[in-house]
Amino acid sequence: IKSGFRCTFASMQHSDTIVALATAQGISAIAVIRLSGPDAIDLVQRTFRGKDLREQPSHTIHFGTIVDGDRMIDEVLVAIFKGNRSFTKEPSVEISCHGSPVIAKEIIKVLLKQGARLAEPGEYTKRAFLNGRFDLAQAEAVADLIHAETDNARQAALNQMRGGFSKEIAHLREELIHFASLIELELDFGEEDVEFAKRDDLRHLIERIQSYLRALIQSFDHGNVIKNGVPTVIAGKPNAGKSTLLNALLNEEKAIVSDIPGTTRDVIEDEMILGGINFRFIDTAGLRETQDVIEAMGVERTRERMKKASVILYLIDLSSTTSAQIEEEEGTLKELGIPYLKVGNKIDKADPTLVETLRSHDFTFISAAGKTNIQGLKDRLLDLFKIRTVTTGDVLVTNLRHYQNLLQTNDALTRVLDSMDNGITGDFLAMDIRQALHYLGEITGSITTEDLLDNIFSKFCIGK
Ligand code: GDP
Repeated sequence: IKSGFRCTFASMQHSDTIVALATAQGISAIAVIRLSGPDAIDLVQRTFRGKDLREQPSHTIHFGTIVDGDRMIDEVLVAIFKGNRSFTKEPSVEISCHGSPVIAKEIIKVLLKQGARLAEPGEYTKRAFLNGRFDLAQAEAVADLIHAETDNARQAALNQMRGGFSKEIAHLREELIHFASLIELELDFGEEDVEFAKRDDLRHLIERIQSYLRALIQSFDHGNVIKNGVPTVIAGKPNAGKSTLLNALLNEEKAIVSDIPGTTRDVIEDEMILGGINFRFIDTAGLRETQDVIEAMGVERTRERMKKASVILYLIDLSSTTSAQIEEEEGTLKELGIPYLKVGNKIDKADPTLVETLRSHDFTFISAAGKTNIQGLKDRLLDLFKIRTVTTGDVLVTNLRHYQNLLQTNDALTRVLDSMDNGITGDFLAMDIRQALHYLGEITGSITTEDLLDNIFSKFCIGK
């Protein structure tokens, strides 16, 4: 149980040296090309004019040129990492060249000629994992860190990469393994009535593990919002002002983003970062198409679309709606079971008696066109999620795979407790404990399969 499949991997030595562009494609001041593998330094040396890299100490940087025979390709800085003192725990080299795609391509071509192989997606991080740099949950956090879109997401990923719940899970698993082996031992004694694993101790351990698991499971709601953002829908009758509101909400944010020179995305469409959360306006074009969202709600398609939302901003045109209509629409809205905010738009043209009636109905009054109280609406939206910023010590589950495994572990452990309550024999206990160990082990990667690894690392980009 203890070794799982990991032993085969832990001793795995990669014999080939991989190369890839580590920085983004496109023009930039510098680009970084990374190599990892036993021949990384020798291989670069063969195309490098400058000092003999093989004789330099690890963790040093050297100026020189990369050449292809007699042809000089670029002046570069070469950083070398010897032995296992690198991210991948293999000899590694990072070449900083001028940031033209042509230069990077030419340098990589020369290195391939010298015997390097183009890296597969996520291969650096996969090697780092297989060489024991970190566990699987930490490796996955590397990808999350790279893709973090908000500061909160960055902090959550960083915490996970630096160990997060990994250590605790590994520790609890060790304790459970101890019991599992005692119970397996009992089974070896077959008919004899021996009990090596004290049932009370086992029960206490399981309860302790479950209370920790439950905290992690609960953190997923929060973690998921932080990592993936909040799918948001603006709904309401035609002409309620949905497009105008969307623009009012986005404008400010777009301006901020486009003011930062060199941002990778030219147009940030339909998402806004508010209080560290990414509110993504889903399918808004589609919703605008479906002329009358609320009336069409009987239509399953619209309903399905709305269900993708985690929050609905429901817009009412205060200049042309009666309170009876509003009540009817709210009934339909409630049925969806998704949190919503009621927004009264066109306050500038509103009927004062209607506004008076709606005051007691928890409406936020705005003018989308006049940009009145847009901030008030944003505050209400944030209140719904009561998100605080992530601090360094927070352990948050942000990964769906981890979340599912935690649920499965918890279920298996509940079955162990039930079995004990019902005086069920050791072999059934052992089976459920083994299952719990399996699911727990998959989180940190003490149990892995090639499929699982391929599935995880293929989602990385090349060069990561
Ligand atoms: P949608 O069909 O729900 O997307 O509605 P639009 O955003 O296209 O707006 C419909 C009309 O209402 C447009 O002519 C807007 O200029 C107008 N409108 C939107 N918000 C306001 C507002 O706060 N006050 C007034 N007076 N008109 C508004």
